[in-house]
Amino acid sequence: MRFSKAFIPTTKEAPSDAVLASHIFLARAGFTSQVAAGLYNYLPLGKRVLKKIENVINEEMTKVGAQEVDLSFVTPADLWEESGRIEKFGKELLRFRDRKDNLFVLGPTHEEMMVSLVRNRVTSYKQLPLNLYQVKTKFRDEARPRFGLMRGREFVMKDGYSFHATDEDLNREFEMMEASYKRILERLGLDFRVVEADSGAIGGSGSKELMVIADSGEDTIAICESCEYGANVEAAERSDRQEIPEAPEGDFNKFQTPDVKSIGNLANFFKVDPYYTMKCVAKRMMYEDGDQVVLFFLRGDDELQEVKAVNAAEALEIADVSEEELTALGLVPGFMGPLEMETVPCVFDSSLKGGKDLICGANEEDYHYVGVDMSVLDEGLFADLYTAKEGDGCPHCSSKLLYTKGIEVGHIFKLGTTYSKPLKAEFLNEKGQAEPFIMGTYGMGVSRLIAATIEQHHDEKGCIWTKETAPYMVNVMVSNIKDAEQLAFGEALYKELQDAGVEVILDDRKERFGFKMKDAELIGFPYTVIVGKELEHGNVQIVERATLEKRAVFADKAFTEIMDRLS
Ligand code: ATP
Ligand code: MG
Repeated sequence: MRFSKAFIPTTKEAPSDAVLASHIFLARAGFTSQVAAGLYNYLPLGKRVLKKIENVINEEMTKVGAQEVDLSFVTPADLWEESGRIEKFGKELLRFRDRKDNLFVLGPTHEEMMVSLVRNRVTSYKQLPLNLYQVKTKFRDEARPRFGLMRGREFVMKDGYSFHATDEDLNREFEMMEASYKRILERLGLDFRVVEADSGAIGGSGSKELMVIADSGEDTIAICESCEYGANVEAAERSDRQEIPEAPEGDFNKFQTPDVKSIGNLANFFKVDPYYTMKCVAKRMMYEDGDQVVLFFLRGDDELQEVKAVNAAEALEIADVSEEELTALGLVPGFMGPLEMETVPCVFDSSLKGGKDLICGANEEDYHYVGVDMSVLDEGLFADLYTAKEGDGCPHCSSKLLYTKGIEVGHIFKLGTTYSKPLKAEFLNEKGQAEPFIMGTYGMGVSRLIAATIEQHHDEKGCIWTKETAPYMVNVMVSNIKDAEQLAFGEALYKELQDAGVEVILDDRKERFGFKMKDAELIGFPYTVIVGKELEHGNVQIVERATLEKRAVFADKAFTEIMDRLS
């Protein structure tokens, strides 16, 4: 490609709402342009990067026997009714009617579509397993589209679905897909971690996320300082506490505690470790048929993890409740406790099970109970509600957990029969009986990977592309195109590299050297060959973008030097 002919509109202006490096540089360097909130155009450079990532994915998918398909982006709303997701997805689904008044949805993910494709076409266990995938535009009317390609409304996803006759076979495929996804991210040159993820109401360990490590990541992940354990904080577990603070003394009793509302004040008031106080967090839980206030109880030194709360209460969503709303329900904010609580449902954190010597609110202004024994609440609903903290013990090896930030670029999930059952997608097993398919789903954020690459690989000057993501590997920059010798040398080297299969661009623009160099740094070509004044003395310079290291080489050795560096 000749830069002089290329459509690469670089600019000094960053988008006004951009805070992330990837959002700023991808726009400034002419990879993408914004159309509306969460909608982006890919310009030639952006499209090249997208295709390169797609190619890596396609190659790796082919290696593991997954077959590429391409399903309609517009999906019939009926399918979403059948699976029961039309409500759950809520406003993220963009719905519209055609001229015949049929209702459609722009596909935000394709489980329903893929199941309906396979249903009645694959009918015997002999045709299983089957793994189908596509790389496709998705649309989710995200509440807060932001950070450029990171969270778009229209975005590109690789979505794959596998069909199996047995759980064992799904487990085998799941492990293979995990390994395959790891290879993809390794090839893309990314530092990442595979972590346990929330698996919603289904539960179990069948949900893993692939997280690119970056300070700007929206997800907090807990990782073990010594073993491989890692989990999204939404799902992170911890080992049992190794050191239990000394228990306070005292029989069951009601105490006056004037204006003592916070856990800190309560622990201070009774001179006890917060471990022995009971924290009450009231939340509004949303269900398909309405909402309901629920009280979540934890040890005083724990924080509620909202995703775990949603799972425990089998709700769809969670929201805050105001003190006024609580009072209207007859509750006493600051003094809420589980004893004789009849107004609203309660859920207890598992670490309270069998607890003794606890202090909790007495559901009366300015009163608390002490010496509470949880055995009186044994019948209650207990579940993991806590947020694993930094410093907590790893659930696998008891070493310390640390927090880090990650960008979710992939999510693999054992679905079981979640979709095949309601959609009645069945096969005949060895005994000739009909059974629903056992399924897995494997998503990867292709457009988000572009942003994630830059979040991890940039400096203050611009993008630093890795080998498998660079739009062009080499930029041959002719410093002064009016100099016939420079231009001729640049053209020849450009041709030679092109013939050798190198992705190369020739910067033959009538611009000043400084201007062209700034563009090269902003765009982030891995190597720039500067063909300048030094050519008179038989030298050119090679600049490596990642390090900005500049080295003079004999002009007649430039080609081999570049080829060596690329190998
Ligand atoms: P998030 O929690 O970031 O919203 P998700 O859990 O909704 O992601 P999935 O439904 O698992 O995502 O989709 C698979 C992959 O698609 C994600 O791992 C992510 O990389 C990508 N993805 C999801 N939503 C978006 C979006 N709005 N913009 C860009 N990529 C996205
Ligand atoms: Mg989402």
